[in-house]
Amino acid sequence: AKKLTGKVALVTGGSRGLGAAIAKRLAEDDAAVALTYTSSPQKADEVVQTIESAGGKALAIRADSADVEAVKNAVAETVKAFGRLDILVNNAGVAVLAPIDQFSLEDFDRLVAINIKGVFVATQEAVRHMGEGGRIINIGSVNSDLVPFAGGSVYALTKGAIASFTRGLARDLGPRGITVNNIQPGPVDTDMNPADGSFADNIKGMTALQRYGQSDEIAGMVSYLASAEAGFVTGASLNIDGGFTA
Ligand code: NDP
Repeated sequence: AKKLTGKVALVTGGSRGLGAAIAKRLAEDDAAVALTYTSSPQKADEVVQTIESAGGKALAIRADSADVEAVKNAVAETVKAFGRLDILVNNAGVAVLAPIDQFSLEDFDRLVAINIKGVFVATQEAVRHMGEGGRIINIGSVNSDLVPFAGGSVYALTKGAIASFTRGLARDLGPRGITVNNIQPGPVDTDMNPADGSFADNIKGMTALQRYGQSDEIAGMVSYLASAEAGFVTGASLNIDGGFTA
């Protein structure tokens, strides 16, 4: 359905995994879509080509979410290319799993820089351009609510921060007609969390549905939250996890 005609979206980390599926889905909804990447220019290009060959508008921008200037530039490039910005999807994220005694300060700083600070900077820049009907959609994690294994403490910390940032931001931006929501996926089959890994059988068993999710299933929730129909949803953390937290 062409429910985002005339809208412009920016998806961080749109070259692979969830971000690539989200970028393609928003383009199917008829938004013009900018996407950022860091190390996968070819994959980013493939996403752009897929969108363009279906008649959509897309743009790939190299921007490390840990680099404040690069993130600001990505927002500026998006507005320059497409003339406005309506939807920001803060998807770029990294996971490092290690027990607390072995977790390096470097990895801690990197997770905070990408998963938290990058979200703050992108959001602050993006809302300068957003009006009534604007949408901030964060990709958190169910690990914000449930960490059923060891080694996930710092990753969970960053995703918990996204859940609370979402609530506060909804209060800041509500009067301007901008909604802010946090999608918390359970296990989704991507490079970050492959469904054929050795740990995967364990994880599958923890879901009610006994399976991993697919990126397209998460993209469907993004599509809904980005639409006009979702105008009364804000400040919410929405689990889409196959019953992982049921
Ligand atoms: P992937 O590792 O499969 O893909 C990550 C994407 O983010 C890639 O496009 C990558 O681009 C980009 N990216 C990584 N680091 C940076 C950076 N520093 N700056 C800009 N872009 C970056 O991850 P997923 O698709 O699985 O995860 C996407 C989001 O979903 C993350 O926030 C993750 O925490 C969250 N999530 C994932 C779950 C899962 O089970 N898969 C579950 C719950 C949440 P490039 O290749 O160019 O570096």
